[in-house]
Amino acid sequence: MSGKKNVVLVTGGSGLVGQAIKSIIEKEQTQYTETIKNETWVFCGSKDGDLRDKAQTEALFEKHHPTYVIHLAAMVGGLFHNMAHNLDFFRENMAINDNVLNASYKYDVKKVVSCLSTCIFPDKTIYPIDETMVHSGPPHNSNFGYSYAKRMIDILNRGYYSQHGCMFTSVVPCNVFGPHDNFSLTSSHVVPALIRRMDDAIREDQPTFTVLGSGKPLRQFIYSLDLAKLFVWVLRNYDSIEPIILSVDEEAEVSISALAEAIKKAHGYSGQIVYDTSQADGQYKKTASNKKLRSLYKDFEFTPFETAIQETVQWYKDNRDSART
Ligand code: NDP
Repeated sequence: MSGKKNVVLVTGGSGLVGQAIKSIIEKEQTQYTETIKNETWVFCGSKDGDLRDKAQTEALFEKHHPTYVIHLAAMVGGLFHNMAHNLDFFRENMAINDNVLNASYKYDVKKVVSCLSTCIFPDKTIYPIDETMVHSGPPHNSNFGYSYAKRMIDILNRGYYSQHGCMFTSVVPCNVFGPHDNFSLTSSHVVPALIRRMDDAIREDQPTFTVLGSGKPLRQFIYSLDLAKLFVWVLRNYDSIEPIILSVDEEAEVSISALAEAIKKAHGYSGQIVYDTSQADGQYKKTASNKKLRSLYKDFEFTPFETAIQETVQWYKDNRDSART
């Protein structure tokens, strides 16, 4: 990226991943590197325009005339929220993605990096999953609406490339957590849900803390600030429409019970953790291979899991009143 100033528009800029990218960019801006001098970053949330609406989406593009787009905006939620709203997840995300990619085409955007997720891969598959398997079988039934809508981003990317030569690509993060997450009791992902509920338990002096499900499922968790660095790297260095998995290593996979213990340690909670096995576990595992990432960006260092959990717990304690709950 060089020459006149490039505008980078980040949809979903007010969310977990968007805010992490913002803090990485703000840090770069204080270092005043050559690259950052040529970029103007614009972070948009839903108050800047409802991307389910075509006219509002085009108005946003008309206003900013982006050179590049990082497309994060989506209806996002945890297992229980997905199970209850599969139709909404499908329709809203289909509309958002179609509008954003079509506006990117109309406004001649040079590159779009959109966001898939490792949880949209086939339920019955071989592990580890890799980038070639996005469409190789039905997703887990718990989140089929979100999954099929996300998979269609890849179809749109291929369509815009084959018909118009557009460089619209996608990244595939594993489970993300960090500051600015959604800590709601009804719609959050497992990390913020456990952090928030354990904080409540401590404040209410509860001797036991219940984790929904068996605690046995395995997950790869990426710290939002690590993912943000990788997003920026993809925008500047990755020129292929093929998806790329952005995940911690396979060996870094942890069980939900290990996650609960890490959160307990970070919170300094002295009560006992119990498991409610009558509740759904979701997919047992979805181990993803980051071989492609490792082959292209060999020396990337992920933040140690416990450090990232500690920082996130601390952020929640410091921002309890203003956090999304
Ligand atoms: P958040 O829920 O934290 O943020 C969602 C963002 O999308 C917010 O900025 C929100 O705006 C915006 N948004 C939602 N609906 C609309 C709409 N109709 N019009 C305009 N903007 C809208 O999500 P994350 O940061 O966690 O997720 C970012 C991306 O990463 C998503 O595409 C998600 O699918 C993907 N992903 C997330 C994972 C995770 O574990 N969190 C894992 C893998 C992929 P506002 O808040 O202002 O309403």
